[in-house]
Amino acid sequence: MIGDKNPRTIDATHATHGIGIEIGDGGMRMIAARADNGERTSTRWHRRLHAPPSPDEALATINDLISDMLAAKNTHQPLDALGIALWGDIDPVRGVMLSVPPAIGWDEYPLEATLTNRWEVPVHMQSAVAAAGLAETIFGAGIGHQVVLYVHSGRTIASALIARGEIVPGASGRAGKLGHWIVRPDGPRCACGQRGHLDPIASAQSIVRTTIGLASGSDESTASMLRVSGGRAEAMTVRQVVQLVNEGDPAARQVLDAAWDALALALANLVVALDPDIIVIGGPPAEAGDAFCEPLRERLSAFLASWRATPTIAPGKLDSHAALLGACRIAVP
Ligand SMILES: [Zn+2]
Repeated sequence: MIGDKNPRTIDATHATHGIGIEIGDGGMRMIAARADNGERTSTRWHRRLHAPPSPDEALATINDLISDMLAAKNTHQPLDALGIALWGDIDPVRGVMLSVPPAIGWDEYPLEATLTNRWEVPVHMQSAVAAAGLAETIFGAGIGHQVVLYVHSGRTIASALIARGEIVPGASGRAGKLGHWIVRPDGPRCACGQRGHLDPIASAQSIVRTTIGLASGSDESTASMLRVSGGRAEAMTVRQVVQLVNEGDPAARQVLDAAWDALALALANLVVALDPDIIVIGGPPAEAGDAFCEPLRERLSAFLASWRATPTIAPGKLDSHAALLGACRIAVP
């Protein structure tokens, strides 16, 4: 979980105070929380940048945020460490950014070293998916499990492997890009330009968009879609698509059957390779709970047949707080 770049020892008799920061998600949203000896904390600070920022603009906002937190009346402890969880592509081994869509100018930006120089404390950076997986392992659905495969589905699908409480790092930060896992070579085109990838069939965003497109061809499905979404089909959630399936809507059924089939196929291959004892589903599908996970588990079980037990598939328990809690944990383990 922690690289060798910022070695430090923690004196067990001395409290350690860090700050965890979650960056990104669409444009640029930052949330920060204190992390005191790894405890969960409820005090949060928010900043929002309305346009995708340059690295310098984002850094200025991060520094303001940290300064405000340190100046707050109830946080007079010194800063010992920073944990950063970022919704974008990063290389946690080198501590550099790879990309932060849709912002530009982030390629190879040395965020970890820049923050280390500014604050003179150890800075640990992870992808938000890895951070969220770590938080679910320690505080949420993965408690008590040795090897947790965390699968986050939102705009894209990505995963992290948490083994014995530690994030298993890849060589370059690109492990777990499940959205580009090939599940159907003749399938729809992915945003990356290739065909057959998991994202255009099974990401939370694709599930909602495909359902809207398919349901629009039927008056009955359109009426159902408007009803479950409160008249705002464009804001429909995966939980509401699952609700449509349970009410017998054929359009939603077609979309989710394809998504569950494709996701189960990818997960079956991952289970063979990684041997997790639980798969935790994060992101919008987790809001649907077991109603999303159980059909997935049935399909996974059929793929794995009888040669091994099917791992538990559980919805995440930390909702949208997972990545920030993970950032705090990365700062102060
Ligand atoms: Zn792709």
